[in-house]
Amino acid sequence: MSAEYQVHGAVAVIVLNNPPVNSLSLATRKGIMDGLEKALSDDGIKAIVITGAGRAFCAGGDIREFNTDKTRAEPHIHSLIRAVEESPKPVVAAIHSICMGAGLELALGCHFRVAKPDSQIGLPEVKLGLSPGAGASQRLPRIVGVETALNMIVSGESMTSQTLANSGLFDSMIEGDLVPGAVDFAERTVAEKRGLPKVRDIKIKYPNYEAYFQFTRNSIGAVARNYPAPLRCVDAVEAALTMPFEDGLQSELDIFFELMATRQSKALIHSFFAERASSKIPDLPENTPVRDIRKAAVIGAGMMGSGISMVLMNAGIPVTILELDQGGLDRGVAKIRSIYEDSIRRGRLSRDKYEKRMSLLSTTLDYSAIADCDIAIEAVFEDIQIKKGVFEKLDSAMKAGSILATNTSTLDLNKIARFTTRPQDVIGAHFFSPAQVMKLLEVIRGEATKKEVLATVIKLAGKLGKTAVVSRVCDGFIGNRMMEQYSRQAEFLLEEGSTPEQVDEAVEKFGFAMGPFRVSDLVGNDVILHIRNRWDDEKPRIRYSKILELLCAADRFGQKSGAGWYDYKPGSRHAFPSPAVSETIRKYREATGIVPRNISSEEIVERLVYALVNEAARILEEGIALRASDIDIVFMMGYGFPPWRGGPMFYADSVGLSTILRRMRQFAANPHADPEFWKPAPLLVKLAADGARFSEGGMPL
Ligand code: NAD
Repeated sequence: MSAEYQVHGAVAVIVLNNPPVNSLSLATRKGIMDGLEKALSDDGIKAIVITGAGRAFCAGGDIREFNTDKTRAEPHIHSLIRAVEESPKPVVAAIHSICMGAGLELALGCHFRVAKPDSQIGLPEVKLGLSPGAGASQRLPRIVGVETALNMIVSGESMTSQTLANSGLFDSMIEGDLVPGAVDFAERTVAEKRGLPKVRDIKIKYPNYEAYFQFTRNSIGAVARNYPAPLRCVDAVEAALTMPFEDGLQSELDIFFELMATRQSKALIHSFFAERASSKIPDLPENTPVRDIRKAAVIGAGMMGSGISMVLMNAGIPVTILELDQGGLDRGVAKIRSIYEDSIRRGRLSRDKYEKRMSLLSTTLDYSAIADCDIAIEAVFEDIQIKKGVFEKLDSAMKAGSILATNTSTLDLNKIARFTTRPQDVIGAHFFSPAQVMKLLEVIRGEATKKEVLATVIKLAGKLGKTAVVSRVCDGFIGNRMMEQYSRQAEFLLEEGSTPEQVDEAVEKFGFAMGPFRVSDLVGNDVILHIRNRWDDEKPRIRYSKILELLCAADRFGQKSGAGWYDYKPGSRHAFPSPAVSETIRKYREATGIVPRNISSEEIVERLVYALVNEAARILEEGIALRASDIDIVFMMGYGFPPWRGGPMFYADSVGLSTILRRMRQFAANPHADPEFWKPAPLLVKLAADGARFSEGGMPL
């Protein structure tokens, strides 16, 4: 039973009860319809209230049922809303907490709406690559006006019920208990004979709407290039002005189903579920105890340490930063201030909040000052000996039970844990740069990390507004290990005939935020080479192109030195193709006997993306990542993989694993290829042979 039926005097109250957020699954729709029929057949009932149990009025349709027969099965959402709208007894929506998507559409079908202040009202369908599908594009503009409705539908952002209090959407705001207030309101509508007003009957007016819609299309078209949904949402709302109501409704439904079939929508829905799955760890039951994190320490106030401190302060957690010397502390604090002040200038942060956040910050040069912190997050130089010194000091200074976390990008977490007498309390918290912006947190679980410590850091990630993905220990963890193969392959492409700009343009056209050579110039070519050389010491030798070394030997470190894979003008980040780099590559080819050839954009993208996919398959079979969808999250949130392609694994599934395997074999046959590079991961071979996909075969439950 997904909706309860209660009787309050002459008012029936139908309570949606489909935890956690009362989504309108087929069963819930049936429950509401049954309640409605019961109320209509009972002469003692004069009015009906619809509300939701627990944490939401209703968060919308049931996404799990999208693309299944259940979406179209009766009572279809349209039939339900029609039944509510045509009810001969007044129906009142009693809204609280969350009223989104189809939940709002159901409320728009009711004759009256009452709401608690602070309810979140929105139509987030566009974030899943969809348009509203149950009348919002036709009803909402009639009641709140075309511009407000269009903004809500196209942005997918929610608004509070107070913000909308004077929009006409609500007939009353209820400060006290909602259900008694709504029942009282329903009784009054009957007593005052207020009739059965229908939103669909409101006359919609917007003079010169053509110009407004054209303007909107121009601005949206410029930013939503790879996403069809926003522009189709505009079409849906325009139909409210140009078509009779019923035709507009049908047009909206056609758009909804058209969008549901797009790969963009499928990818975004995949990401939605992937994000929710990532914090579920099979051997970490929900009742795993967690430690309280009330105070934190951050070691090192460089680029990452200052960002991580801000993330903690933004979440209201007091932070003490520890550095080598006063200069380091001063630089870190100045950086934090300047980032906050920039946010104030842009109107994104109030001075009041800024002061509150800064009041949570303290600094020290002395480990005894952080002894009672519940967690220390280390972000010092990427050097195992320096980390050793820091972890030994943390171990002796910090109270029992404190969590010792490291932000290392590549170093062996198990080794770091063994520098302490409490390896069970050591964990990796790999933030991405800039930490205060990037949503991803790779959580590295060492061989000794206690479950309680892992559960605490995953919970902390949620508090910090981050999405946690758990990785086991290996060189580079999930993300950087895959990126290493991607960068290697990118440089092999240069050896064979591509230019850095051809490679960058091809992958940027594919949808990556930035191509590999622009990224390399941003991160620092010397930093990348340093990591490679260290890996060379610890790992069996693998072949790298020598071009990066040649660049570093010429002090072409990237943006910071004004020259890298590209040339830069002082004070600008704009990358210009570099004649010097072309010459270096040409000479290198000549010296190694490579006759360059034209490499198509298609081949560039295939080689780079399949390099990611093959390494990801190894990461999965080694159990470094728990599931394919975790890898997708890491790449979309941490490395600029286009979200509308759903991440490398989802994309690989859509290409077909046997196609990928066939192409990899062709690449391996290329006379300049490193034969080791294209050796397929056994999991990839197996899945391709079985005609399976990563999202099935690669995803343990
Ligand atoms: P950084 O050079 O900007 O900052 C390092 C800071 O640590 C400096 O301020 C330095 O004074 C301080 N420090 C050095 N030794 C110390 C010690 N013994 N005690 C206290 N402070 C000390 O470096 P960063 O880019 O912030 O990187 C820090 C860590 O984060 C590294 O492990 C790095 O691999 C990792 N990381 C970096 C990025 C990135 O994009 N930069 C991303 C993820 C992770």
